[in-house]
Amino acid sequence: MKKSFDYIICGAGASGLLLANAMIEDKFFRNKKILLIEKDKKSINDRTWGLWDNKTNVLDSILHKSWDNAEFIGKSFKKHFLLEPYKYKMIRAIDFYSHFLKKVENAPNFEYVNASISEIISNSTDNYINTSIGNFKAKLIFSSLPKNDKMNLKKYPLLNQSFIGWTIETKEDVFDEKTMTLMDFNRNQKDETRFIYVLPFSSRKALVEYTLFSEKIISDQDYENGIKEYLNEKEIDNFKIIEKEKGNIPMTCFPFEKSNTNKLIYIGTAGGWTKPSTGYTIKNAIDKSKEITSYIKSNKALEHFNKRNRFWYYDLILLDVLKSTKGHGYKAFSYMFKRNNPIKILTFLDEKTTLFEEIPILLSVNKIPFIRALINRLAEIIDRIIRRPD
Ligand SMILES: Cc1cc2nc3c(=O)[nH]c(=O)nc-3n(C[C@H](O)[C@H](O)[C@H](O)COP(=O)(O)OP(=O)(O)OC[C@H]3O[C@@H](n4cnc5c(N)ncnc54)[C@H](O)[C@@H]3O)c2cc1C
Repeated sequence: MKKSFDYIICGAGASGLLLANAMIEDKFFRNKKILLIEKDKKSINDRTWGLWDNKTNVLDSILHKSWDNAEFIGKSFKKHFLLEPYKYKMIRAIDFYSHFLKKVENAPNFEYVNASISEIISNSTDNYINTSIGNFKAKLIFSSLPKNDKMNLKKYPLLNQSFIGWTIETKEDVFDEKTMTLMDFNRNQKDETRFIYVLPFSSRKALVEYTLFSEKIISDQDYENGIKEYLNEKEIDNFKIIEKEKGNIPMTCFPFEKSNTNKLIYIGTAGGWTKPSTGYTIKNAIDKSKEITSYIKSNKALEHFNKRNRFWYYDLILLDVLKSTKGHGYKAFSYMFKRNNPIKILTFLDEKTTLFEEIPILLSVNKIPFIRALINRLAEIIDRIIRRPD
């Protein structure tokens, strides 16, 4: 017989743990039986999360560091700016896992199981998961497990945000510990969009990441050469690598939310919570976890959760441009940051601007590729309307 729960959360990564936490914090869920299931031990610092934020959030108690200043570096300009009202916050995954797993352990209505999920069965009669240690059923299942959706790549281009980061320690003071580098595009773009991201923890310690937005992934050695080249330019040669991280975040407008039903909801990257044009996920995961709990409390149909907004269309066009302008993708970000107040751009990327505020931003980019991408999308829509059988 399958053990039964009100909710099952599949995966104790970013979205699974943030959803679990949102339920723990809300007394509505105290009498619900909830299972959290994860295949890994979550005992390794496998990633570093960064986000800009202008309010307090559930991650504040485990921040590793935050910055009040940032810089954006284009090919021919450099903008140093005060992040206020934002702060750029950074969390080590290991602190995140141990903090939230402890909260789950202490929550009497939660059960945490370390096992691998082999299948999720959700249809009109059943709603359960098969795992390496048995089967569990629930009224509602949330899954953050990677999904192998067959994507229509013509309709929704997919770019990889792939990167390798080194946390290095130097013998001398070489970093400005007060300023993080959001994007440094001053490197050979080689037909893609390439930049360096730097989080300086102190004047002698920093995470330096070489990142690509591209269709293809390059070899690890090429990313590492990108880091070495950057350090060489900065005349940083006396250092030791103390940690490495590697990632590949999908950048796509694919409508992941269409797989949601009233019994099975995809969360995290699998649920389309990753911002397509930036790859940032963690902040969306905080907001969307709270949104899900309020949907459940108000009995709103969960299949309508995570609806598209106008920012989805902006992201779609930007991805088209990044894909088509081979090696010139950096211009879109550079013009935005050069011609506008950077704080407005961060608010825009956060999807918190008004239409009125968006007009100057939309007009500030390199217009020709954007107009071309827009015309192609409109032509596609018209074509679909004409061909659609009655
Ligand atoms: C190195 C790295 C750095 C990143 N940096 C940032 C950043 O700075 N800012 C940001 O916003 N985003 C960042 N991201 C992107 C994004 O935030 C993370 O990938 C985030 O973890 C996505 O959350 P998630 O819940 O969708 O997936 P995950 O956090 O990957 O969680 C999925 C969980 O499911 C578990 N799982 C998978 N299969 C099974 C199975 N069969 N059975 C049981 N459990 C299973 C996994 O072990 C994992 O714990 C980064 C990603 C990486 C890889």
